[in-house]
Amino acid sequence: MKTIEEIPKEMDVLNLHGIGDLRFEKKETYTLTKDHVLVKIKYCGICSSDIERVFINGTYHFPTIPGHEMSGQIVAVNDEDRELLGRKTAIFPLMPCFECDSCQKEEYAQCSNYNYFGSRCDGGYSEYLLVPKWNLVLFDDELDYKIAALCEPGAVAIHSINIGSIKKGDNIAISGTGTIGMMIALVAHGKGANVTVIGRSSESLEFSKSLGLKTLLTTELENKTFDKVYEVVGNNESINQSISICDNFGTIILVGNPKDNVNLDKQIYWKILRKQLVLKGIWNSSYNQKVNDWKEILELMAEGNIPFDSLISKEYSMSEFEDAFDYLRNSKEKKLKVMFKNE
Ligand SMILES: [Zn+2]
Ligand SMILES: [Zn+2]
Repeated sequence: MKTIEEIPKEMDVLNLHGIGDLRFEKKETYTLTKDHVLVKIKYCGICSSDIERVFINGTYHFPTIPGHEMSGQIVAVNDEDRELLGRKTAIFPLMPCFECDSCQKEEYAQCSNYNYFGSRCDGGYSEYLLVPKWNLVLFDDELDYKIAALCEPGAVAIHSINIGSIKKGDNIAISGTGTIGMMIALVAHGKGANVTVIGRSSESLEFSKSLGLKTLLTTELENKTFDKVYEVVGNNESINQSISICDNFGTIILVGNPKDNVNLDKQIYWKILRKQLVLKGIWNSSYNQKVNDWKEILELMAEGNIPFDSLISKEYSMSEFEDAFDYLRNSKEKKLKVMFKNE
């Protein structure tokens, strides 16, 4: 084994012992195994799905360390992986079975029997993580760990842009002002698309305005139409509205993950028929030899033309987790990504 620093026997983690029972505690540090490296986690984003895991739904078993939006440094490797030592890396959080039909086609997001950091097994709210080499997405020293920790939502945004075949001049609307919505807006804008962000309140649109994007309130949509509409909220109102504002023969890209049942009025459903709309669903991202949304977002981040850093609202150390979740759940401030920092 090769290391760049002494690895402590115990590490700090945030461990979920039950719904609403997240604890900052010590845990035995991983020991290195074959085909894996030990990563020191530098930043881990708090996903809105983590908030639901911690406070509402729980994880597949308890205790579990949540967190799947990670960047870090490779600090211990097996002798044959010497060239990886010290490298900066993002981590693709899905560990596929490599055996099912989807895996045979390298469509790993559709794997029928996968493991997942931070939900099905321990994840990134942790000082260290043992990571299969296959899941490493290395990046150059010039790029900050902090921005690279936006890689997971960023890869979903790239995937959404690719599935929507966004190109220069496309007239697109984005319904939703959260991190993924904003990332889609920024990347699409960067590609030269004509982007309008739709939100329910003028406060929710302030950030988009500050980035120079066009905005519309949900009350200002009468007679407005768009070739492509991104639905990034996942509730009835937004889904119905997306269908209404999509132009004839247009495309709706469904990104938002609904918490409740979705109901369509007959009048709205008819619009799908009459306008011959195309509806496309988005799940996770592509991570294979042909299409790798992770490499694509890291390249965009490294180019530095898109202000990804503006998407990070606050950072906390893991010991301040109560404040972090309190801010996310209770603060009235407009916030995007909040991260745990281990530097
Ligand atoms: Zn996430
Ligand atoms: Zn599989």
